[in-house]
Amino acid sequence: MLFDTHAHPYMAKKKNMEDIFQNFQRSDSNYLVSIWTDLKTSQTSIDVAKKYKNTFATIWIHPTDAQELWNDFEEVMKTLEKLYIENEKYIVGIWETWFDFYWISKENFQDQKITQEKYFRAHIQLAKKYELPVIIHNRDSADAILQVLKEENYWNFIIHCFSENLEFANKCFEISENAMMSFSGITTFKNAPEIQETAKNIPLKNILIETDSPFLTPAPFRWKEENEPIFVKHILEKITELRSESANEIEKTIYENSKKIYKIS
Ligand SMILES: [Zn+2]
Repeated sequence: MLFDTHAHPYMAKKKNMEDIFQNFQRSDSNYLVSIWTDLKTSQTSIDVAKKYKNTFATIWIHPTDAQELWNDFEEVMKTLEKLYIENEKYIVGIWETWFDFYWISKENFQDQKITQEKYFRAHIQLAKKYELPVIIHNRDSADAILQVLKEENYWNFIIHCFSENLEFANKCFEISENAMMSFSGITTFKNAPEIQETAKNIPLKNILIETDSPFLTPAPFRWKEENEPIFVKHILEKITELRSESANEIEKTIYENSKKIYKIS
């Protein structure tokens, strides 16, 4: 029973998408959320969800696109909402609403931060309207994210590719005791003690796992193979190794957490 809550199967370069799905869907109970990365890949992501069983998509606008589309804010958000309404059956969340201060240039930091924040809040509003989880990307922006989450007061969110520490996770739980921390292949790396400490100590009911494939291949395949959804089992193994509950309980609870937050029955 595996649930990869975040993957980009259509972005694989070295592996064939049919093979990736065949590998993953060998078990009928395996589920996957296929994430699109910009407006151009949105349709691909929905097509993938339509084609493969137990596969779902998410919608959002990338901040870089957002920057370009700055003048059309209302229109962009309307397009997004329309896409959701037309594909409701396949769309399970708003991904990835965003703060990323790592990639933005120092010169126009403020301008870009304002754009990111505007879309971040709009994504949360859309999520609220349709009772969808917001999936949050954080890079060097933990405090800004916590502030927006507090102000927007929305309980239904996932911290994607968790890369902070236990203190950050606890601050998220102060905002929402149902917040989800989603652990990626980074959790299996030797240089990730704070992430491992978090995976070990937070309540099991707040844990999800994801590959973010084709990126971030977990150990023992790091540097050796392109990542794919079936490798989510290595992340599960790592979490089992870190925690005190039985392997069975961990597998079952994480799987149920994923279905619950994405409202998949
Ligand atoms: Zn991703």
